[in-house]
Amino acid sequence: MTKPRRLVAGNWKMNLLRAEALTLARDIARRAGAAGAGGLRPKGLGAEILLCPPATLLMTLAEVIGESLGGGAGGIALGGQDCHPAEKGAHTGDISAPMLKDAGCRYVILGHSERRRDHGESDALIRAKARTARNAGLVPIICVGETEAERDAGSTLDVVASQLGLSLPDDFAAGEFVVAYEPVWAIGTGRTPTEADVALVHAHIRAHLGERAVPILYGGSVKAENAAVLLGIANVDGALVGGASLDAEEFWAIVRAAGASGSSPD
Ligand code: PEP
Repeated sequence: MTKPRRLVAGNWKMNLLRAEALTLARDIARRAGAAGAGGLRPKGLGAEILLCPPATLLMTLAEVIGESLGGGAGGIALGGQDCHPAEKGAHTGDISAPMLKDAGCRYVILGHSERRRDHGESDALIRAKARTARNAGLVPIICVGETEAERDAGSTLDVVASQLGLSLPDDFAAGEFVVAYEPVWAIGTGRTPTEADVALVHAHIRAHLGERAVPILYGGSVKAENAAVLLGIANVDGALVGGASLDAEEFWAIVRAAGASGSSPD
């Protein structure tokens, strides 16, 4: 099987106002530029960089990222944090996949545990969103992961298998989606699973995906200090980063760790 590409995604969640976002994005773009401007994987890094800001900041960031790397759409990829399963219509307050695409996005995060928790999102809904996103030309990053109670009950692999089975459309090909394993209890807590546990779950996900060379990201308290270890585990093709993506220095260290431990870009 071809090796999946490496990807480091920053999930800014509901953080940052325009001025702070501009400073952070410019800092990251400057570092990416110094590493070899142009293309989604700056030369010498070996990892694609993705920023997922709040929807209000997408257009602003699209400009900054383009400008900083000498114009054009390349450089750092942009992603949304969610989208509606319908393409358009009477859904006050929601954002559609075509709107994200129109704002310059390449990716969209779907089924993040905070969406599942705060909005009661089901696997079936996530699957519907994934299909709409794919049809709009976006690459959905589909999040799965067990709660602490599920882990303590020894059902991590069953939970992840069930979420994958129900939220991933069967006909998606490699290149059309990304999977992120995010143990709910590790998100924003500073706690991470053991290396052996990450390896076990990622191998399980890889087996579920079969021959499709789909990147599998690990997410949950990834920081500069643990990035090299986490990103060096078999079948970990990148990271979905929350808190540490709000600090350019921290985020950049994670990007470098992903590039250093990865295969060469495709
Ligand atoms: C996340 O929200 O996807 C995440 C992994 O958060 P953190 O890195 O802060 O744990």
